[in-house]
Amino acid sequence: MWIWHWQVESDPQVIRRYKVLKKIYSCLEDYDMAIDDFIIEHETFPIIEKDEEHICDYCKEKSAYHLTKIEAVADHSGSVV
Ligand SMILES: [Zn+2]
Repeated sequence: MWIWHWQVESDPQVIRRYKVLKKIYSCLEDYDMAIDDFIIEHETFPIIEKDEEHICDYCKEKSAYHLTKIEAVADHSGSVV
């Protein structure tokens, strides 16, 4: 199975080194499609987290997950915009 789940670090020191570039909301039914779309579009694996607070981007039902693309931010203090 090539889909992996990554619990985003809750340590603020770690979070600060990443920025979210893209976020997709998906319900359980559209989950597979959302992952496929994500990989085709971004050529990388999404970070998947449970999220039932939003609306699915595909069917407008309640979301179950969100898929995020993050980018590591270089850790040079002062130079990060
Ligand atoms: Zn859906």
